[in-house]
Formats: sequence, C-alpha cells, structure tokens
Amino acid sequence: MLGGMFLKEFGAMNLDFSNPNHKPQSVHFSAPAVFPRSVSQKTLKTSIGCTGVGLHSGWRVGLKLHPAAANTGIVFRRVDLIGGGTEIPARWNSVTDSRLCTVIADERGVSVATVEHLMAAFYGMGVDNALVEVNGPEVPAMDGSSWPFMFLMECAGLVELQAPRKALRIRKPKSFTNGTKRVSFTPSQGELRIDFEIDFKAAAIGRQVCSFGVTSETFKTEISRARTFGLLSEVTALREAGLARGGSLENAIVVDGDRILNDAGLRHANEFVRHKVLDAIGDLYLCGHPIIGHFSGTCSSHADTSRLMQQVLADPQGWDMIDVYDDTPAAVWHEAQPLAAMA
Ligand SMILES: [Zn+2]
Repeated sequence: MLGGMFLKEFGAMNLDFSNPNHKPQSVHFSAPAVFPRSVSQKTLKTSIGCTGVGLHSGWRVGLKLHPAAANTGIVFRRVDLIGGGTEIPARWNSVTDSRLCTVIADERGVSVATVEHLMAAFYGMGVDNALVEVNGPEVPAMDGSSWPFMFLMECAGLVELQAPRKALRIRKPKSFTNGTKRVSFTPSQGELRIDFEIDFKAAAIGRQVCSFGVTSETFKTEISRARTFGLLSEVTALREAGLARGGSLENAIVVDGDRILNDAGLRHANEFVRHKVLDAIGDLYLCGHPIIGHFSGTCSSHADTSRLMQQVLADPQGWDMIDVYDDTPAAVWHEAQPLAAMA
C-alpha cells in the first residue's frame, strides 16, 4: 500500500533566515516517479479442492479450484458428464435460473447451481481468474456460508498476474420495485457499498438492516461467515418438491417461528441480513469485475439483483470500466478507456 502518498525527497537545507547574507549554495530537490501502483489481477497459486453436499440436489460433490490466466475471469466446468467439460463463464449472461439460488449454464443447458457463495468468496479474496471444476450439478454447500471457500483460497495462496485489474463503476442511478421488494444502484466514492433490509414474519428473524463498505477485511470479518437460512415450513415444502435435499442444520440456519433450531445458535445477531449481503456480492460478481457503486436491497432476492445488473449493463451510459490503483485509504481510481461492451 502506498497510502496515497506522492513521495518527494528534499536534500538537507540548513538555512539561517536571521542572516541576510546567508544563501544556500545549492538545493537538492528530487521527486522520484512514485505513483499509485496499478493493481494486478490475481489468481490462485496452486490448485486446491474439497468435497461436500449440494444444498438442493443432496449429491456429494467434489470441487476443485485451479489457477487461470489473466482475463479468463471465473469459469466453471462440469467434469462428471460424458462429453461434458464445456466451460461455463460465471457471467450475468450465463444465468438461467435465480429463483432459489443462482444457476449458470452453457448453451447446451449444462448447468452448475448455487454458485453465489463461492462467487462471493472470490470477490472477497480479490480473485479475478480461476477455473472451478465440479463433478455434480451444484457447488457443495459446505457450512452454508463463504467461509470454507475463503479458507481454501487462503490455503492455496494467491499470485499476481501481468494484467491490470479493472472495476465496473456505476455512473447513473438505476432501480426497480416489485411489490415490497426494491433494489437500486447509485454511484459511490471508490467502493462497493451494500445496504440491505429484510423483514420476515418469523419472530426469530424479524426486521434486520445492515450496511457495509465491502473490502477484503469487512468481507472476511463481517460477512463471509453468515450462513444461508430457511423456514422450517418452507424446507418441508421444498423437500416435497424435490429440492433442499441436502439441506441440514450443518449447512443452513433453520427457523421455526421464534425458534432457531441450530443448537449453536447464530454467528451474528443479524446473521440473516448479513447473508443477504453475501448473496448480493456473489450475484453482483457475475458482472466479472469488482464494482464501484452503492447497492441497496429491500426484501430482494437473487432474481432482483440479477435483473438490476442486467438493467445497468443494458445502458452504456450507466457504467464504465476503470483501472484499479493501489492508493488507499479510499483508493484512487484512474480513468481508463471505457470498454465498448461487456464480453
Ligand atoms: Zn445464499
């Protein structure tokens, strides 16, 4: 970190202003060309994997994260299908379903579900490029949060690549309302900020609000461990519909009225709304870049976030791409040539 400082070196000057005859013989002045450093894209240092249960499928699924070259983005690949192996870019235009979780698919319909918690971990870790292999239809749920994926990435380590990191900057407000649900994006100063509000009839959840400036630090300490949740009545209905087959108290908070069924209780008093922030980060990363903007969600879902992102990207005046410079605290964002279109 350069801390926002433009360093200048002054040679030693010992002036005696009380002596009118005293003039400095020479003044050494140099201003080395130390400017904020362009942030490089990152990938994993080595491959790493884990195994877990898919929340909806109930299948035991193996997950492997591999390094990938600059400008690859996050790409998924199913390795369990005969003739499979097609790469599915984790991009907004690969999303085929976002009712219960976020599903991406290739043009043949080969899909990977529940990508959002892993995508949020990539965002929080600052990973731009990775290949994700799964041998089933869904990313394993692990404990229902992003924490286990962050742990994997920290174990693998990260390396910088020879390419600048670019961020998507929101330039114009965009919003829409759908009944009691509302989502919006407005421009912000050099960060992704997320406000979220939920309001559930179940007394154990009730109304919760939170607001975070999303950095690696806040993601890790405040957001990454918040688990997905469900109402006991809905879990029963989902199971009857063939969903949530892998759901358990090991990978979700389950609520029944004013009771939390998990013996160990909550990780944060407002863990539910924090998980909604986590979901939004994962879904927003489907734009392929970190975001400079202020996102607000009120009782909104994966589908609402996805629809808002599509509205933003459909308006060429509503966003641009900028190089990311390492010049904290607030970070300095230097203008770059706007890209003509998202790939
Ligand atoms: Zn979630």
